[in-house]
Amino acid sequence: MNKIWKKILILSLSVLMLAGLFQTVPSAYAYTAPVSIVRVALYNDTETYESANLQNVSGAGYGYEFGYYTSDRQFVSLGATVTSTNQITMMMDRNMVYNSSSNSYSAGTDGSIVVGCYHIRLDSAYPDYSSARAAADSFSTVNAFVRYEDGSFYVCVGDYISSAEAAAAAPGLGITQTYTIDSGSSYTVTVVASRTDTILFEFDCGTTYSLAVRPIATNGVKSQTYFKRRTYYGDFVYWRNTGGNLRVINYVNVEDYVKGVIPYEMSPSWPIEAQKAGAITARTYVMANLNKHNSLGFDVCNTIDCQVYRGTTGATSTSDSAVDGTAGQYLVYQGSLCETYYYSSNGGATENSENVWTNAVPYLRGIEDPYEAAVADSISSYYWTVTYTGSELASRLRSRGYNCSTIVNFEVVEFTEMGNVYSIRFTDSNGRTFTFSKESARTVLGLRSQRYTVNGQQVTTGSGSVYVNSSTGELGTDLNGAYAIGSGGVGQLPNGDVYAITGTGTVEKVDTSASTSTGGTSGTSDTFVITGSGYGHNVGMSQWGAYSMARYYDKTCVDILTFYYTGAEVVTSN
Ligand SMILES: [Zn+2]
Repeated sequence: MNKIWKKILILSLSVLMLAGLFQTVPSAYAYTAPVSIVRVALYNDTETYESANLQNVSGAGYGYEFGYYTSDRQFVSLGATVTSTNQITMMMDRNMVYNSSSNSYSAGTDGSIVVGCYHIRLDSAYPDYSSARAAADSFSTVNAFVRYEDGSFYVCVGDYISSAEAAAAAPGLGITQTYTIDSGSSYTVTVVASRTDTILFEFDCGTTYSLAVRPIATNGVKSQTYFKRRTYYGDFVYWRNTGGNLRVINYVNVEDYVKGVIPYEMSPSWPIEAQKAGAITARTYVMANLNKHNSLGFDVCNTIDCQVYRGTTGATSTSDSAVDGTAGQYLVYQGSLCETYYYSSNGGATENSENVWTNAVPYLRGIEDPYEAAVADSISSYYWTVTYTGSELASRLRSRGYNCSTIVNFEVVEFTEMGNVYSIRFTDSNGRTFTFSKESARTVLGLRSQRYTVNGQQVTTGSGSVYVNSSTGELGTDLNGAYAIGSGGVGQLPNGDVYAITGTGTVEKVDTSASTSTGGTSGTSDTFVITGSGYGHNVGMSQWGAYSMARYYDKTCVDILTFYYTGAEVVTSN
């Protein structure tokens, strides 16, 4: 073998070994998701209900199973099933009246369908649901039902709107054992067949456990259930720990949860790799935010406060396959779940978390984003301009509690290394200044992004280019009120010795004698033109950037996520 061939062989072997090395080296950090079921509030985190309907729409399935969830999220069936109806209503244990126009029950007794909260409760407990159910079924003249209370099964007979009415009825019912008149309680949840006064079940374990309802699905079909005109996978828990209205909480497998998030995070028409990136961030978010709303009995709400979640309603085959294709995958940094912040678009560069909020998060670093620009034409209002007069700015600031007179100057006083706004300053006609930094440089005026300039003021990113402009955004002939970038950052050109190159190439002194500026900046202008790009807070992933990477640059979901989350990696939960 000659030398050349030896070299080629060695080279080939090295490449093979390297390839093998990269294939066999696992992630340095393993991750195991602590739960598989997440708790999501329906309809949102502040809404509770006097009554709540469910309709089982699962394939060939029929009815419901009752039980409760333990603190480690295991469903405990009480053996209680209802197969006589697919439509049930959970309600407070009070005298409740049905209103047909709203198809709901509310507290009261004035109506034709009234569910009384006074029952004749037989004193002896039954060992299981079926024996209690058999005892209840022995009553032929009145509806009797099973009540699960603090670990025991009881039989309750009838529903009456007062203790006296129940006591008066009891002797005629053929009851052979001792009983107690049971009145409504703060924690009991009553289940009825919808639109009737037929009680199917009652549950009261104080604040220890809440009623869980599991829709029955047969033939291997996964259950889907209507609640408030949307359909959901999973089970439903009725939380009444504060003794008032019911809170409806969907206990749903995390993968099914993500399927209910993706269609509201990204258009179902977006490329699959972008949607997969969205699926991984949504899955990571919920796992990183378990117990966020624990004091209310759930993990996450279904609004933008957490993530918009609407069950199976908006899912498509593409959005579902984005979730299935990334099942169990999470974004981690050194083994810990990332906070997967994202936004619509960044306008050209993302930003360090500490330059927008407070904490410097190692994987939330500012990076220049070359991808968005390729799809800028597809993004509505990607480039934006708003104009304010000095008095409009003043009234905006006053509406936020700042005592100021007409604003005579508004400028960016500091840009970040990425060219986003770090700090802005308003000066009013009395010389008072008002400075806003980080996120408030965007929110104080309700701007679309933190990436903008005022009156053409400019700082470019990294290239060191010098930019000179006037207060109106156009270069004036005499450079009055002009700005330039010097070694100390952006500043106003001094009156006096400013030189410029003319159109014929000669260097001449600029006449700035007409300048009105004395430490102010925008001169006499009463109008402030704010020109920016992007929409959002710029921390983490750009959704439009993800779209562009997947659509035009052949990037995978892992490429997208590791681009926007510096040093993070995608791992599959063990
Ligand atoms: Zn929330």
